[in-house]
Amino acid sequence: MWIDTHCHLDAPEFDADRAQVHEQTRAAGVSQCVIPAVHAANFASVRTLAHAQGDVYALGIHPLYTPEATAEDLAQLDHALQEHRDDPRLVAVGEIGLDGFVPSLNTPQAWAQQQQFYTAQLRLAQQHGLPVILHVRRSADQLLKGLRATPVVGGIAHAFNGSMQQAQAFIALGFKLGFGGALTYDRALQLRRLAVALPLSAIVLETDAPDIPPHWLYTTAEQRQAGTPQGRNSPAELPRIAQVLADLRGISVAEVAAVTSANARAALPRLQ
Ligand SMILES: [Zn+2]
Repeated sequence: MWIDTHCHLDAPEFDADRAQVHEQTRAAGVSQCVIPAVHAANFASVRTLAHAQGDVYALGIHPLYTPEATAEDLAQLDHALQEHRDDPRLVAVGEIGLDGFVPSLNTPQAWAQQQQFYTAQLRLAQQHGLPVILHVRRSADQLLKGLRATPVVGGIAHAFNGSMQQAQAFIALGFKLGFGGALTYDRALQLRRLAVALPLSAIVLETDAPDIPPHWLYTTAEQRQAGTPQGRNSPAELPRIAQVLADLRGISVAEVAAVTSANARAALPRLQ
């Protein structure tokens, strides 16, 4: 059985066929999906969806949504974490973090706003005793700095694509590293090297659906221009992504399933 530790199943990309995607996901052996919120407006929808589908969820404000986020949104997050503290399906604060890639988020003002929301949400995770799900994009060192200043009980560095040294620093702080579709590209040499060199005990699997399509769903700019839409990723792809990891490491896919599922439960204890 598989656990997809990061999928945005509430995204509009799934509006037309969400029930069917859910069926395909379970048929593929993915028994649980972690659905992280991205802003206060979808707190209720991720919770409702997780309950309806037998999945789990996280509540947080994603760095991409910090430019328009307000203190009121943080108050809403605090309130929701309190209100649902006994909900076994609420497993983390997330998706939170820092994005050092998107230019509009990296003006001095926007970066300060990202930092402010990151720190405030680490404090909430600390107060509520919850792990965090981190968005890491060209921001690993700054995220680590924040975690050292405001320690939390651990969590997941999602779509990890940093150095071995950064990976080890996250592991030392009680984190697991999320790997997904990016691993399926032959040219992802550095990421593949990392996925092989890390102890399997540090790895959790994720799809980040509907984003980060594995190579078998990816359409090139040329194909898109000719009218083929970009392939939509789904949690049902997780076992095939895991097979790539198993092949890279030269181990059985059954071992990958058992160990990464146990890792997910260690990172997000309420998954038990
Ligand atoms: Zn995400």
